[in-house]
Amino acid sequence: MAGIRFEHVWKRFGEVTVLKDLNIEINDGEFLVLVGPSGCGKSTALRCLAGLEEITEGNIFIGDRVVNNVPPRDRDIAMVFQSYALYPHMSVYENMAFALKLRKIAKTEIDQRVKEAAEMLGISHLLDRKPKALSGGQRQRVALGRAIVRSPSVFLMDEPLSNLDAKLRVQTRAEISKLHQRLETTFIYVTHDQTEAMTMGSRIAVMRDGILQQLDTPQNLYDTPANMFVAGFIGSPS
Ligand code: ADP
Ligand code: MG
Repeated sequence: MAGIRFEHVWKRFGEVTVLKDLNIEINDGEFLVLVGPSGCGKSTALRCLAGLEEITEGNIFIGDRVVNNVPPRDRDIAMVFQSYALYPHMSVYENMAFALKLRKIAKTEIDQRVKEAAEMLGISHLLDRKPKALSGGQRQRVALGRAIVRSPSVFLMDEPLSNLDAKLRVQTRAEISKLHQRLETTFIYVTHDQTEAMTMGSRIAVMRDGILQQLDTPQNLYDTPANMFVAGFIGSPS
């Protein structure tokens, strides 16, 4: 587990400023939802935290450590995207075991971790299958499983459900919440769907045009929105 802090973080791509003085503090073990319209900088914020993009100004902390110059592999973060990017030629088991093999973890330990994660996700019966023989929902579970076996301190999820149909989305939401309770790890969950944000987050960070508008509980966002944008965004149907 680790808390996260964005401190006066700016991110520019050439002339374009995508993150503007972002200050966010996420508690150890918290489930934070980052929400905002498409293009407001949510993915960029996650990519900066994961070390996939360099920030232009400011500091990002994981626990007590400034990680600005720490390479992604040393940040102890797992990221799950909407596109599952499973290795097509590998079985589900091999997909889940791959990162652990690279880290030279013993085979018995790998087997154990894959078995546990597969049970948690209800995919134990699929371990020998190739990704092409799985449904979209099953593939998304494998992608989650691949992250879980690494037992990271921080889970980042970037619109992980947007390729699923509505029914499966609702079901998977509930399972991700359960997963968070079980793993007791810090989660940051990105979505542009306000319903998803309001039902999943213990706290929600609302962004617009690279600027954090408000970070609060769903109840407080609803009762005392900081501005018209937050009020409109939270209040509008998805
Ligand atoms: P969101 O995830 O909220 O939809 P993004 O973080 O993907 O938003 O993008 C925010 C803005 O940053 C967009 O205007 C996008 O075009 C721009 N952007 C993202 N990545 C790059 C990049 N590598 N180079 C230039 N502009 C980028
Ligand atoms: Mg995005």
